[in-house]
Amino acid sequence: MATKRNVLLNPGPATTSDSVKDALVVSDICHREQDFVDVIEKLRVDLLKLSNGNIKDHVAVLFSGSGTINMDVALNSLMPAKGKALIINNGAYSSRAVDICKFYGLPYLELKLPFDKRIDTTKVEEVLKQHNDIALVYTTHNETGSGILNDIREIGRLAHDHHAIFVADATSSFALVPIDINKDNVDVLLASAQKGIAAMPGLSFIIARRLVIETSKDYPKRSYYCNLYRQYHHFEQHGEMQFTPPVQLVYAASQGIRELQSEGMANKFARVKRINQAVHDGLLRLGFKEQIARSEQGPIAVSVLFPNDPHWDFMKVHDYCYQKGFILFPRPVGGNNAFRIGSLGAIDSKDITAFFVVLEEAMHHLGVAVPVQY
Ligand SMILES: *Cc1c(COP(=O)(O)O)cnc(C)c1O
Repeated sequence: MATKRNVLLNPGPATTSDSVKDALVVSDICHREQDFVDVIEKLRVDLLKLSNGNIKDHVAVLFSGSGTINMDVALNSLMPAKGKALIINNGAYSSRAVDICKFYGLPYLELKLPFDKRIDTTKVEEVLKQHNDIALVYTTHNETGSGILNDIREIGRLAHDHHAIFVADATSSFALVPIDINKDNVDVLLASAQKGIAAMPGLSFIIARRLVIETSKDYPKRSYYCNLYRQYHHFEQHGEMQFTPPVQLVYAASQGIRELQSEGMANKFARVKRINQAVHDGLLRLGFKEQIARSEQGPIAVSVLFPNDPHWDFMKVHDYCYQKGFILFPRPVGGNNAFRIGSLGAIDSKDITAFFVVLEEAMHHLGVAVPVQY
């Protein structure tokens, strides 16, 4: 089934391959059939392999929902009756984790750090030294709004030194940059089908140390549907989700993983870097300024400052590119005068080169000066 190919430059959901799209169309099946349970089982094992976990110590627990469901589940399920969560916040997604803590009335500390720098881990260590009641340390690996890739390995090490568990939101980094759940000191990794594995939104997974989930069995219960232990326990007993899974999305995610396996994670990472380099090159050619210093950025998303030109109108630029099949996130980042370009999905550097031709056309069309003015 051929559909028009769009290149999604918003940092997730990502451009999917035709084969991932086609995987959605399957014979109807009841989700309790063994054939389907086998598909889920394989997907869960493959997710563990991707994060370098092992079946004895780790488990992948799936949820129906966008990536935020994982954040909700991890925070509402893994907080003991006593103790605080430490949210290390240098961007919009960790701010969302703070909101979740507030919403559930969870005791938390927020370490608010500059949004335009990688997390300063000496600050994390100071807070952990000052407070001996931190049970859970939480942060975002790739802050998708700014494109900053935080040092989870060091943060995880510090959390463990202070006897806290470490939750890393890797929604926009998993399967894009190599992650090793052991070496990176992550106890609970959050990820989703629509970003790194370039499948459909609506299926999310928590890859965690079994012991951490087992230990949470008698923690205060704050949700029925979104409790990590309950979902884990059901998977252990029956190999299935508690309630109806998003059947077709599971097939599409499985196809996304097969494509990643045949590409190989090292090649995938090289492709992400190649796409990102093409983004930097294109921006430089047109004279755009990036919002975050290159030294602080990872390879997944670039935040670009709007030019200071009376003819610049971001929504008009967006609409022009949209008509030509290149989709920019149609809202400025966090109230800033900036737009983002992601390196996710079934695309390559030639798509970025083609995008910059269209972007330049859009600017000529609007009368925006090139190179752009600030
Ligand atoms: C995309 C993303 C999420 C999930 O966001 P949704 O709005 O639920 O799709 C969570 N964390 C990070 C870092 C993300 O990039």
